Amino acid sequence: MFSKLVQFSFRRSFHVTSKLNQAMGIDGNNILAESLKRQGVEYVFGIVGIPVIETSMAFQAAGIKYIGMRNEQAACYAAQAIGYLTGKPGVCLAVSGPGLLHCIGGMANAQVNCWPLLVIAGSCPEDHEGIGGFQEWYQVEASRQYCKYAARPPSPRLIPLHVEKAVRLATAGRPGAAYLDMPATLLLGEADEDKVPLEYYTTDRVNPAFPDPALVAEAADILAKAEKPLVIVGKGAAYARAEDAVRKLVDTTKLPFLPTPMGKGVVPDTSPYCVSSARTQALSQADAVLLLGARLNWMLHFGQPPRFRPDVKIIQVDITPEEFHNSVKSSVAVHSDIKPFAEALTQKLAEKKFSLQPTSNSWWTALAEKQKANAEFVESQANNATVPLNYYAVFKTVQKIIPKDAIIVSEGANTMDIGRGMLLNNLPRHRLDAGTFGTMGVGPGFAIAAAMWCRDHAPNKRVICVEGDSAFGFSGMEIETMFRYQLPVVIIIVNNNGIYGGFDPQTMKDIQEGGDVALCTPPSALSTEVRYEKMMELFGQSGFFCRTTSEIEDALKKALAITDRPSIINILIDPQSNRKPQKFNWLTESKL
Ligand code: ADP
Ligand code: MG
Repeated sequence: MFSKLVQFSFRRSFHVTSKLNQAMGIDGNNILAESLKRQGVEYVFGIVGIPVIETSMAFQAAGIKYIGMRNEQAACYAAQAIGYLTGKPGVCLAVSGPGLLHCIGGMANAQVNCWPLLVIAGSCPEDHEGIGGFQEWYQVEASRQYCKYAARPPSPRLIPLHVEKAVRLATAGRPGAAYLDMPATLLLGEADEDKVPLEYYTTDRVNPAFPDPALVAEAADILAKAEKPLVIVGKGAAYARAEDAVRKLVDTTKLPFLPTPMGKGVVPDTSPYCVSSARTQALSQADAVLLLGARLNWMLHFGQPPRFRPDVKIIQVDITPEEFHNSVKSSVAVHSDIKPFAEALTQKLAEKKFSLQPTSNSWWTALAEKQKANAEFVESQANNATVPLNYYAVFKTVQKIIPKDAIIVSEGANTMDIGRGMLLNNLPRHRLDAGTFGTMGVGPGFAIAAAMWCRDHAPNKRVICVEGDSAFGFSGMEIETMFRYQLPVVIIIVNNNGIYGGFDPQTMKDIQEGGDVALCTPPSALSTEVRYEKMMELFGQSGFFCRTTSEIEDALKKALAITDRPSIINILIDPQSNRKPQKFNWLTESKL
């Protein structure tokens, strides 16, 4: 390995001097690195092994940051989070066969979330294909259904063309995943440097779609005539960087708005026009809904009764016309980037002198009443600091202490759902969670990407990663990655001994003494009172173990003072703590 490193650095310096001498060879690894650099790729997350060790070093030599992770899935989650945060795809680099296959969950997650991602995997040498090559797999075929683009460049000279296309497809229109397959023979193959068309391709952003003014006028008419209008702000609006335009729309019209989980922060959660705490009422009574970059999928109950009125008028705005009328027929469907649409609509509504009066408008008074009742319920729960704690008391304490501009990463079941309401986001793209695909295990990867982004773009900003104990288990070993790259992520584990909920130690013991452990252990139970915070001892550090709100406060303050490594705060809560009873099942039941 050492000799390989030496060989590599020699190769690299040879390559640099070769630029002076003209017409020297450049290999696939370096062509790939240079192509990615020219396409604006800044970060690669991955795990190296044969045949991509030299590839990772070529990336670093080209000035692309490389973050070595502990599982390809987590690397793939990190790469897509960078894509969402920056608008440019992060790269996930993996080895052949199992390495690439571990990325598939990540690719699907990016694709379903509409986030840009480029996965690059090594594959076995082409002359070993079909005869049982090491880690041989049908990688392009395996990836294709999870991607907008999957290809194997046919020669070193054509690598830049495919890199450009992969980046373009990952980002243009609805963002998603792309895959490039790099056989060992291609990575080591050489081309004459002056014949590699690196400069031909540009990194220019494809211009966004602008709205048809006639449709903007129709949308304005519907909203102005509605008795109970509602704006839904989705993560498409966050990805579109439409925060200024959407804030202006809401502030000038005083329309009530609901953010989707990752639409939170496009308009601040603390805005007086945010009606999150009257969500069910707002959705089920609105007679006109302006849908800004969100799909009417399970998260929005398909836009159908009983969660929506059967006669609701939907104004659907999306960059992807294929999405229109998907679950219910929209009254107006506008193919547009969110930003120019929101700007045009604000202007149109201003021309009509449209603005609601929250104090006198009956829709606003009904919503305000519901918000008050819900806030009172939450407050009463949150003020109950009896040990073992309930979720609400935990989140109230966390919200009190964490910096208000922190990026919040969250996953779990109750942990994520209850935390979403109580941990506020006042800035766009500051919440990363299990998303449209409901994927568990995304947290640590997302947090690593967010912390890398903070270090480079907002050094004082913190990343708070709020995990259920089950969710943390999927990618918990990434704590070592955080430690290695000195990322000060504060990991909070809300520990209820199980999936959804578990048992106290005595009950769990009694249950397991009932017979064959594999037959009697409840499938949703995890070991009780696991000391996850002791993982910090792997690095000669100590974590924080809490049972009370004052211990949480103390731990958070100490964790926030640490700026060069991660910390773990393990909070034991009541294993049977639950969320507020819901009017509807969390998923609208299928009647098929
Ligand atoms: P949420 O999870 O917030 O409900 P979804 O992921 O369901 O959001 O939907 C996001 C939508 O935003 C997708 O349909 C996607 O096509 C759309 N979108 C992404 N980028 C833009 C953009 N720049 N302008 C408009 N729509 C966008
Ligand atoms: Mg749990």
